[in-house]
Amino acid sequence: MDNRKKYAAGNWKMNGTSAAMGELTQIADVAAGMGVITMIGLPATMIDRARGLGIAIAGQDCHTHQNGAHTGDISANMLVDAGATHVILGHSERRTDHAETSELIAAKTRAAWAADLVAIVCIGESEEQYRAGITMDVLRAQINASLPDGATPENTVIAYEPIWAIGTGLTPTTEEIQSIHAAIRAELPDAMLSILYGGSVKPSNASDIFALEDVDGGLVGGASLKADDFIPIMKALEGTMK
Ligand code: PEP
Repeated sequence: MDNRKKYAAGNWKMNGTSAAMGELTQIADVAAGMGVITMIGLPATMIDRARGLGIAIAGQDCHTHQNGAHTGDISANMLVDAGATHVILGHSERRTDHAETSELIAAKTRAAWAADLVAIVCIGESEEQYRAGITMDVLRAQINASLPDGATPENTVIAYEPIWAIGTGLTPTTEEIQSIHAAIRAELPDAMLSILYGGSVKPSNASDIFALEDVDGGLVGGASLKADDFIPIMKALEGTMK
């Protein structure tokens, strides 16, 4: 049995106002005492409000600098000040919507580490790349360019999220997920880094995905917004620890 850290991680994206605090509280109540790390990537406006709930809180982006003339941006230091311990970097929606390159993500990762945040570095191939059979070439290039020297299990988590599986209800087969995670692990500077799977994880498929040898939990979008959906996913991960 490995002792890599196991994460039930949610990504609320641009969802959540004070009205959603009840969902967060329900998630936190169940997370207490679990042997896995429950983490939610919150909109920046909610991070401070989630203080004291007892779950790990992530920002969804940070700037490469800790302060300065960057209107509308948020720094890693600010995320820590608000109560975050983690930050999601290089999500495919940011790579697409904000033209983020792997080189920029590496600079953001260094900024996160400098502020003592754990970086959740996202990688994933498009549907076209998947169909062309070049998934591992794409992922290898993303890992090499997005992950600076110095990644350790204490400061970094990898999230493998096939873009075509995000929010679509589609997922690779469990065989594909396992073989890609194993291949990613072989590319990492430290084999003990946690690798999360993301892309249409839901209560009905979480157990099968989390049971895979090289999957250390999930990064969950839509199904993390409601406690009734996310709690069974947390429990599915906890179930793999027994
Ligand atoms: C995500 O955006 O990180 C994600 C995995 O979304 P979903 O679970 O909704 O596919």
